[in-house]
Amino acid sequence: VPLVSVAARSLVRVAVPAPVRRYFDYLAPAAEAGPEPAIGCRVRVPFGRSRQIVGVVVERPQASDVPATSLRPISEVIDTDPLLSAELVAMLRWAAQYYHHPPGEVFAAALPGTLKRGRQPPTADLSGWALTAQGRAQDPAQFDRRAPRQAEVLRLLAAQTGRTAAPVLEQALGRGWRPVIARLTAAGLVDSGPIDVLDAGATGGVPTETSAPVLTADQRNAVERIEADLGHFTAWLLHGVTGSGKTEVYLRIIRRVIDTGGQALVLVPEIGLTPQLVQRLADRLPTPVVTLHSGLPDAARARAFLDAREGRAGVVLGTRSGVFTSLRNLRLIVVDEEHDASLKQHEGFRYHARDLAVYRARQLGVPIVLGSATPSLESLHNVAHERYRLLRLPTRAGSGVPPSVRLVDMRRDGAVGGLTGTLVAAMRGHLAAGSQVLLFLNRRGYAPVWLCADCGWIAQCPRCDARLTFHQRADVLTCHHCGHERRSNDVCPDCGGTPRPIGEGTEQVEQALAEQFPDVPVARIDRDSTRRRGELERRLSGIRAGDTRILIGTQMLTKGHDFPGVTLVGVLNADGGLFGADFRAAERLAQLIVQVAGRAGRAASGGEVLVQTSFPQHPLLNTLLKDGYEGFARVAASEREASGWPPFSALALLRAEAPQAQTAQRFLDVARALASDELERTDGGDEVLLLGPAPAPMERRAGRYRAQLVLQASRRAPLQALLSALLPRLDAARESRRVRWSIDVDPGELD
Ligand code: ADP
Ligand code: ZN
Ligand code: ZN
Repeated sequence: VPLVSVAARSLVRVAVPAPVRRYFDYLAPAAEAGPEPAIGCRVRVPFGRSRQIVGVVVERPQASDVPATSLRPISEVIDTDPLLSAELVAMLRWAAQYYHHPPGEVFAAALPGTLKRGRQPPTADLSGWALTAQGRAQDPAQFDRRAPRQAEVLRLLAAQTGRTAAPVLEQALGRGWRPVIARLTAAGLVDSGPIDVLDAGATGGVPTETSAPVLTADQRNAVERIEADLGHFTAWLLHGVTGSGKTEVYLRIIRRVIDTGGQALVLVPEIGLTPQLVQRLADRLPTPVVTLHSGLPDAARARAFLDAREGRAGVVLGTRSGVFTSLRNLRLIVVDEEHDASLKQHEGFRYHARDLAVYRARQLGVPIVLGSATPSLESLHNVAHERYRLLRLPTRAGSGVPPSVRLVDMRRDGAVGGLTGTLVAAMRGHLAAGSQVLLFLNRRGYAPVWLCADCGWIAQCPRCDARLTFHQRADVLTCHHCGHERRSNDVCPDCGGTPRPIGEGTEQVEQALAEQFPDVPVARIDRDSTRRRGELERRLSGIRAGDTRILIGTQMLTKGHDFPGVTLVGVLNADGGLFGADFRAAERLAQLIVQVAGRAGRAASGGEVLVQTSFPQHPLLNTLLKDGYEGFARVAASEREASGWPPFSALALLRAEAPQAQTAQRFLDVARALASDELERTDGGDEVLLLGPAPAPMERRAGRYRAQLVLQASRRAPLQALLSALLPRLDAARESRRVRWSIDVDPGELD
């Protein structure tokens, strides 16, 4: 097809939300028909035969390889002002290319729902509700029994910055929230008024300098070095042990940025962490703090999006998708818990928010601070290669010394209900001293195995290569991978024997605790026990109030929450991660243990951590205990280097799944052949290794067979070049239509 050049100003390149790895060209509407389709504006365009969809203008190209006669005009230019800044458009384009994902879907990920659908941004003033001074003085726990719904509202409003809009309340509390608010209003605990984003938050917004502690020498050093470098790109890795005052460092630098008219973007792995952090930021900073996350109702998200874009909000706090926020005066990015796996999106557009944030900071010429008590091996590697600069906070700020950590041999000290005698004895000591105890077990339910001891039959998920977990309260067997559920069986289908639960989950530990400590209040925190709305908050506030003395929970407990009264932490079973197949298994386990241990002992002394294991000689555990996380990281890094895994190589993972194993395998065979062909053509055979195809570690999930092909390269460039050539050929391959397949660049896990 000959290239037909159309008058330059009339061409528009659009990211259209469709699963296609390319942009689409259109003709601009006649000048008199409306605003200019500038880069970053939304436009409505015809797509396919009869559809009209909303896309984003990414470029005004000089020429198109679509013949002029086939170009169709844009139907409508929606925005007069670009909704996405040119800088953000450039970042999204880069991300689409780097992760080899359809650009229209990448752009869609950056827009809140209502805006994605082409609605006008909200401008009308919203009104909302907030606690009065009298309301703030109440302890919501007083209402728990008498008026649980009111308690729920009090807790919700206490965790919000400024006034809270109706859609947020409806989302959080469900229908029927209005009468509850009305009762609280009548009691003088809540009032309503316009939401003014310039009002700096729940506390009235006048930051009290007295609430700011005097910085430790390490903190001061970190703040001074970062501040001296504002206005340039530098990636700082702030490695500070739990409680070392990393957040305090962020606060000081953000304050400096705000005072000079800038905005800061703060990313955290999970939104569960934000209420405490939002409050802390709002209390200390003279600017509105808005939160952006996918759990927000559309209207609230659109509103926060605009406050950020127009520079009204000085701080934007978001989860991983927050990295796509437009900020007019963005001068600083912070990524807290930079090692956390949930910063990587695991489906659809599989981006890593930390890595995109670093890209964005570089592009804008602003500093980025990556904070963690357990930095990823990737980030430590970047420090070693002088791409990031390291700042350390090796000791706790304020009071509190590091807890002592010990291994408990589960084989010698047999556990009942998951608790060894050593652990139970230690618990008695700490409880008697008036402290709280936190127990961690990353397995919910009663038991992970339902076994017939007579013949060895084990309850399996019919749709997955996985065992069913027994849940005693509900008396069901469930699959934690696909959700399959059925009643437990008293009779073995194979021999007529009686199946029994084997191993422990949190539900069983809770029961064992009730037997061992009949008079001690226990709270279990996992996805089952906190399913009901408000339940997590209720349990957490019971812990904070000191009513709860023992906490047993899953990963939910390890993140962000502060439990100042806890002096003993028990890791009930460290063995799960010791022999994990994934190359990141050791790193994840070490991070988990250090993070859980960090919950112990804000106390002046006597903080203790007991790690139960059947492998007390295991080198990973011993290195971690003896040399700390840094020592562990050095050993782990040399193992990765020896075996050629990231960060010593670049990976991409091609996954495929299909109802038949051969179909997935066949597709990957084709993919491998095409990749080899490309490598031969470009002489890149030494640069990229093709490993597989092989069945995924869990081959069958939800009734589909899964397989994968690993592409491993010593450098990114040849891997990227291969993917760019390979994917269009795969898109076109006949075999690709029979499978679900995806490409994952820098995969988190090989699962
Ligand atoms: P991190 O984010 O590293 O876990 P935080 O910033 O949350 O640490 O600080 C942990 C605790 O120590 C908080 O209660 C905080 O108020 C307090 N803190 C932080 N810096 C100091 C300091 N320089 N002096 C006294 N207390 C501090
Ligand atoms: Zn049997
Ligand atoms: Zn299943």
